[in-house]
Amino acid sequence: MPDGSYDFAVVGAGIAGASLAAELSAHAKVLVLEAEDAPGYHATGRSAAFWDECYGGPGVVPLTLASGQYLRDGGFLTPRGAVHLARDQDLAALSEFEQTFADTGVTIERLTREQIAAKVPHVRDEWRHAVWEPACADIDVAGLHQHYLKIMRQRSVDLACCARVAKLKRYPDTGLWAVTLESGETYGAERVVNAAGAWADALALAGGVKPLGIAPMRRTVAQLRVSPEAPDDLPLVLDINGGFYFKPENGRLWLSPHDEIPSEPCDAAPEEIDVARAIERFEAVVDWQIEHVERRWAGLRSFAPDRLPVYGYDAEVPGFYWFAGQGGFGIQTAPAAARLAAQELLGLSADAMTSGIERARYAPQRFVTTDA
Ligand SMILES: Cc1cc2nc3c(=O)[nH]c(=O)nc-3n(C[C@H](O)[C@H](O)[C@H](O)COP(=O)(O)OP(=O)(O)OC[C@H]3O[C@@H](n4cnc5c(N)ncnc54)[C@H](O)[C@@H]3O)c2cc1C
Repeated sequence: MPDGSYDFAVVGAGIAGASLAAELSAHAKVLVLEAEDAPGYHATGRSAAFWDECYGGPGVVPLTLASGQYLRDGGFLTPRGAVHLARDQDLAALSEFEQTFADTGVTIERLTREQIAAKVPHVRDEWRHAVWEPACADIDVAGLHQHYLKIMRQRSVDLACCARVAKLKRYPDTGLWAVTLESGETYGAERVVNAAGAWADALALAGGVKPLGIAPMRRTVAQLRVSPEAPDDLPLVLDINGGFYFKPENGRLWLSPHDEIPSEPCDAAPEEIDVARAIERFEAVVDWQIEHVERRWAGLRSFAPDRLPVYGYDAEVPGFYWFAGQGGFGIQTAPAAARLAAQELLGLSADAMTSGIERARYAPQRFVTTDA
């Protein structure tokens, strides 16, 4: 039987676990357990690093917008803008996109063909239509992650790496959790936070908690050297139908086929077929020569069944808190998500950052089915 020596044991030190632990640490004794030998090895270290108001759909917009100020104030955003490209045959999709985001608070506007050509040099003629998102920005992902890890250090959060949690056991008489690592070492905590990314369901099972169906999906990115060199002021360029995106990065291009391949939780690796698909689509959009594929990587984006993130206590097992399903928006939503969850865990009121967010929308209770 462990002591309740920690108020919270947070499992996972990606952006989710680190941001939430940092927020909790102002008021609580926090332990963070990370399976890898350093934080950020999985999804967090593999992102495409953009903050895009529309990304993830209208249900994610409140979290993204609420995070914007914190990210700007911290110097983590660099303006870029985003162009969602369409051809004549995609006009219905373009209109649907505009309608979907009409009353969500994002800023979007149509571009003329001339404006498209000015923003995306060498774009092929058939890409005649586009929606422009002026607020889209690059995020300094490593900087943001380090910022939260630094707060953790300053506030004496205990971070253990090479510490894979193998078993979680709750003692009903005290309500305390025993958190046992693969190594056999055991910690005690009053509450457990599941910030295990692609492993969120596996971690729940290790604690006798019913999984929610958090599904890891592989996404691939390739870094290309192109001729002429990718201009620094090129916007993020996305297909309105979700077939690709690309953006410049230090004179190179980051290109993704926007793939979403179901995967087991694992150390994801890129497949040649997905890189080839990305290049084929890219060549249909712009008339640039690809000189070299310098680097390729893949990571897992994890989605709940309704593709909204899951923040909240498990519906059945007390003291088990879900902070999972961050999909493709876990970096850009991190500040508001962590603040929102910390306020719930600490019993604090909403503040200026979170007052416009409807917390129930993200609660695990939404998956509870009642028998008729
Ligand atoms: C290619 C790609 C591009 C992306 N682009 C963007 C983007 O532009 N903008 C954006 O906002 N988001 C983007 N994302 C999504 C973003 O990266 C994720 O939403 C975010 O990183 C999820 O953070 P996390 O902390 O939940 O997961 P992770 O970073 O995967 O962290 C989870 C951690 O939990 C640990 N863990 C798991 N099980 C255990 C256990 N049993 N014991 C101890 N530790 C455990 C893992 O080792 C891991 O370090 C992208 C993702 C990918 C893959």
